[in-house]
Amino acid sequence: MTSSQAPKPPQSAPQQPPQTLTGAVTEKKIGKYTVTVERSKCISAASCVAIAPKVFELDEENLARVISQDGNDDEMKLLAAQSCPTAAIIVTDNETGEQVWPPV
Ligand code: SF4
Repeated sequence: MTSSQAPKPPQSAPQQPPQTLTGAVTEKKIGKYTVTVERSKCISAASCVAIAPKVFELDEENLARVISQDGNDDEMKLLAAQSCPTAAIIVTDNETGEQVWPPV
């Protein structure tokens, strides 16, 4: 008689998250730069902490130290290093091993 469409199955949500795009995405590194502090040069100006508070903190001696390499993104890490009045923060490119800041 009538050719009705087959009933659709209930659209209960598939429980899988979207697939990742490509292998290239999953290979992305967390953080291109590594930062280190030359504590002997630190004068406690704290501009690094103000710019990248999830990467730098002042310790009990009021000297900067790195608390995480991926707390803030690379641009903020570099900006924090460039803000340091004594160039106490060294930025190294993880891929090339070259010093990005301060200029050599
Ligand atoms: S900006 Fe430089 S001098 Fe100031 S706290 Fe950070 S490392 Fe030390």
